[in-house]
Amino acid sequence: MFKKIYKEIKKYDTIILARHIGVDPDAMASQLALKEAIKLTFPKKKVYAVGNGSSKFSYLGKLDKLEEDWQDFLLIVLDTPDRKRIDFKDLDKAGEIIKIDHHPYIETFGDLEYIDSKASSTCEILMEMLCATKLKCNEQIAKTLYCGLVSDSNRFLFDSSTPKTFALVSYYLAKYPFSLSELYHKMYLRPLKEVRLEGYIAENMKVSENGVSSIFLTNDIISKFKADTASAGNMINNFNFIEEILVWVIVTEDLKNNNVRINIRSRGPEINRVAEKYNGGGHPMASGARVGSFEEAEELIEDLDIVTKRYIRSVEQNENNKC
Ligand code: AMP
Repeated sequence: MFKKIYKEIKKYDTIILARHIGVDPDAMASQLALKEAIKLTFPKKKVYAVGNGSSKFSYLGKLDKLEEDWQDFLLIVLDTPDRKRIDFKDLDKAGEIIKIDHHPYIETFGDLEYIDSKASSTCEILMEMLCATKLKCNEQIAKTLYCGLVSDSNRFLFDSSTPKTFALVSYYLAKYPFSLSELYHKMYLRPLKEVRLEGYIAENMKVSENGVSSIFLTNDIISKFKADTASAGNMINNFNFIEEILVWVIVTEDLKNNNVRINIRSRGPEINRVAEKYNGGGHPMASGARVGSFEEAEELIEDLDIVTKRYIRSVEQNENNKC
């Protein structure tokens, strides 16, 4: 499949690289790294990485604005399982569409689709693709790919970090040595106001009997900490490994988009089906959704509680069967 993708890349003069709305480091890094790899291999091609960015991830590089109304280009959609979440609207103007993704399958929208839901990240898939094709790489590309991988695997904390993940990381680090501490400094440095907001969340989150924790952040609370809507949700990974909590949820009012953002993480129960029920999605242990109101968010949390209760029961049953 990688060879087929390479053939299509070779064929088109103009290539647009898109990814999902609500940009995150894996999505953006996969765009920017693939753009650089294509430019390095085929300097004459016009390649654009598009979509709404976030100043938070500016350490990865810059996204492009399309200066022309392109037709008949190759569209590569990265890190996005379904059409409705693509941060690029002109799909019908593309000559061909390729999807490269590591989310569980939702729907087909590409002419060629490479999906590996066992991969830690879309950047990991690209690491593999650069090794398997004539696409060139350099230190900057390797660094960008590493950023996306390390971010989506939450610093190798999830089971999605496999021997293949470590083999690829090892290969790239050996071939293109770069300073990890310098890179982490850019990725993880954050303002004190965010740490204070994190303290507020820790202090005020509710925990159900089944270990589902939730916090509702109104716009007033976010403003009080002088944080932005995205920053609360982006700290969801910081609440992992709390003994009493199996599933945790941050619900943030988003006045700009007139809806409510929900970030969900799990240490056991599969949460993506619940997220999908509320028009969201994601991975079994890391999902998200957008709903219309706090009431709807409450319903989603109640559903998570049911799933978690079931999970606890099944774990107990397995333990009993072992005895
Ligand atoms: P986040 O909590 O934003 O880091 O997202 C975790 C995972 O859930 C990622 O794989 C996202 O692509 C996915 N996700 C987040 N929000 C949504 C949404 N509204 N719809 C579908 N998938 C989502």
